[in-house]
Formats: sequence, C-alpha cells, structure tokens
Amino acid sequence: MKRYNFDEDHNMFRDSFRAFLQQEVVPHREEWREAGIVPREVYLKAGEMGFLIPQAPESLGGLAIDDFRFQQIISEEIGLCGETGFMPQLHSTIVAPYIMNNGSDFLKEKYIPKAITGEYILGVAMTEPDAGSDLAGMRATAVDNGDHYVLNGNKTYISNGICGDVFVVAARTDPTVPHAISLFVVEANWEGFKRGAHLKKMGMKSQDTAELFFDNVKVPKENLIGVEGQGFKYLMGGLAEERLICAIWNVGTAEYAFNLTKEFVQDRKVFGKPLSAMQNTQFKMAELRARLDMAIAYTDTLVANTNRGDHDSIGASQAKLLTSELLCDVADEGVQLHGGAGYMEEYPISQVFADARITRIFAGTSEIMKLIIARAIFSE
Ligand SMILES: Cc1cc2nc3c(=O)[nH]c(=O)nc-3n(C[C@H](O)[C@H](O)[C@H](O)COP(=O)(O)OP(=O)(O)OC[C@H]3O[C@@H](n4cnc5c(N)ncnc54)[C@H](O)[C@@H]3O)c2cc1C
Repeated sequence: MKRYNFDEDHNMFRDSFRAFLQQEVVPHREEWREAGIVPREVYLKAGEMGFLIPQAPESLGGLAIDDFRFQQIISEEIGLCGETGFMPQLHSTIVAPYIMNNGSDFLKEKYIPKAITGEYILGVAMTEPDAGSDLAGMRATAVDNGDHYVLNGNKTYISNGICGDVFVVAARTDPTVPHAISLFVVEANWEGFKRGAHLKKMGMKSQDTAELFFDNVKVPKENLIGVEGQGFKYLMGGLAEERLICAIWNVGTAEYAFNLTKEFVQDRKVFGKPLSAMQNTQFKMAELRARLDMAIAYTDTLVANTNRGDHDSIGASQAKLLTSELLCDVADEGVQLHGGAGYMEEYPISQVFADARITRIFAGTSEIMKLIIARAIFSE
C-alpha cells in the first residue's frame, strides 16, 4: 500500500535507522538470543546516532522532533527487521514520557540527557505477582519518611529488568485508597534494590525480563514523579501512546512475517509447482495482505491524530487488540505455509511465532482492550 503521510525527512530518518539496525542489530541477533540480553553498546550507539528519545527538547540533549511519525518509524522498523530484544520504543516512547510529561525539571535534567545518550537504559515497573491487569491491586508501598520515601515491594515480568539502570516504579502511597498510586524514578544501584531471576521465556529470547525487589529503598522526595497519589492518572495517560506504539510494532513485525512467508512460498515447490501457485496459499496471503493494509491505515490515522494533540486511548486499545491478533495470525499462517520448516529454529518464522504470542498479553491483555472498548461503547 502506498503511504503518503511521510515526507523526505521521514524517509531519510527511516533509511538511516534501517541501516543502523542492519549493521548494529541484525548480525548479532543469534548471539544476543543465546545471551538472553542485548549489550549496552547498542543503546550507546543508538544514542550517538540520535535514535533515543528524539522527541526530547534540545535543552536536554534531544532533537526536539515533535512529530510522532519519527517514533512510529523507529517502532515499525524494529518490527520490520524482526527485532525483539533491543527496544528503543520502550525506552523512548513508553518510559521516558512519564518523566518528561509529568516530572519536575530536576528529574528531567537528571535522567533524560543520559537516557538520550544510552548511558541510562530505562524500564517501567508496574506489574506485581498478584497485580497485572488489575493494577489497583498493587501491593508495593512508598511510605513518606521526611525527606524521602521508603519503598518496599516486588515487581515481576519487567522488561530491561537486567540491563536497566533507571526504572519508573509504581507504588501505593496511601494504602487505604485503591487508586492512590504514585510513580517514582528509582535507580538500580540504590541500596535495597535487587534484581531477581532473569526469567526464561517462550519467545523474545534476547529481551531480558526480570523480577525486581525493593527492600526499604530510600527514594528521595524529589524522585516522586508529579503529584503524590496521581500515578494512576499518569499511567493511564501514558497507556494510549504505549498501546499505539505496540500496535505499530505489531504491524511492522506482521509485515516482516508476511515477507518471510511470501519469499518461502515462492521458492518451495509442492506437487511440481511453487507453493505460491496453490489457491489456498494465494487466498491466505490475500486475506493477510488486506488485513495488514487495513491495520497500517488505522495506525497511520492514530499517529496523525496524535500529532494533532488527539491522544485517542480507545483507538489505541482497538489498534493494540486487532494488530496483536493480526500478528499472531500472520505468524501462525506463516508457520503453516512453511510446513515442517516453519517449526525449525533456523527459519525465522518460527521465532516470530514464539515472539508474537506475548503481544496479546503485555501492555494490557486483549481481554482488557475489549473491556476498555466496550466501556466506551456503552458509556456513550
Ligand atoms: C515478556 C513480558 C514483558 C513485560 N514487560 C513488562 C514491563 O516492562 N513492565 C510491567 O510493568 N509489566 C510488564 N509485563 C507484564 C504484563 O503487562 C502483564 O503480564 C499483563 O498486564 C497481564 O497481567 P498478568 O500477567 O498479571 O495476568 P492477569 O491479569 O492475571 O490475567 C490473566 C488472564 O485473566 C484475564 N483477565 C484479567 N482481568 C480480566 C477481566 N476484568 N475481564 C476478563 N478477563 C480478565 C486476562 O486477560 C488474562 O487472560 C510484561 C509481561 C511479559 C510476559
């Protein structure tokens, strides 16, 4: 599908980010999968090239690119090359905005410049063993103790949990009020901060996912993001862009899986002719192509709306829901059309299949997306 929503600047940025990924990421993928983590150097190199938090103001060392299409390009290109370990979209579009949009000048100046250079790798820690979809059930507490808070609790499934240096952590500041959650910027080298197990996962093997433990961590008062008790509001505010950026990543990855399959079915011969000549193959691919183009058009519209200041959380939930399901379908049909080869690790479609499954769960499950959409339908 032709897309008319990018101009020369976007195309140049896309070309240079794509070249960066081809040079600094794709060749190392197997090594990183084996290690279960990506090296810090890739963040430092990305930082040097201006690919981290490009939206940050120049005063903080950013490029002041106030156009969401650049963040869209980053997430889409990560998907298009099948990358699931190096996550600049998490660092730049999901975590940094909590600090940049709601944090004090002190927090912005202390953390954003080093996050732009890649010296600080960012993560966000909301989920707990007993509180994922139901964040109001969170148990971590941050108790006011004069010039600091005392943070206690456990978080789990935290992306960048091993390589991360700075985490936005959600904790309860008033245990009697369910939604009285506050957000804090917490450094991994503070006393009482412990990383738990490097969790073994079904897919996304080079993305380090871990538990985090906070044992009487002294968090200075100035590391509270915004106003005490308003964390839930900030989290909900951030979720629209988080879900949109996930949807964009899904679309990019689905395109990657589609291309892998297209190439395979053209090469593979069955019953004396290419697999692509079978009507079943053509119909499957036609259906996926149509769904993919619809998804691209929808996410492009949401990006354009975001650029107009319309942060459509329902639209983002719809996009997250349908692109996650689409990605899983493209990966599943892709494996099927590969036959036995699709089950072999040496064929990248098998990795996309395993990697894709999480998209229906993280950043809000598909069921939670449906709840949000349904609420909007019936509250009108
Ligand atoms: C690889 C990975 C990376 C992650 N990265 C991060 C991260 O960086 N930071 C972070 O904070 N979290 C992270 N998460 C956590 C993720 O966001 C949660 O796993 C997710 O929100 C689901 O929560 P849960 O696992 O507790 O499942 P649960 O909430 O227990 O859900 C279990 C099932 O119940 C369903 N369900 C729950 N509530 C309802 C309802 N009201 N109606 C109908 N069905 C419902 C769910 O849809 C799901 O099918 C990550 C998870 C994974 C696996």
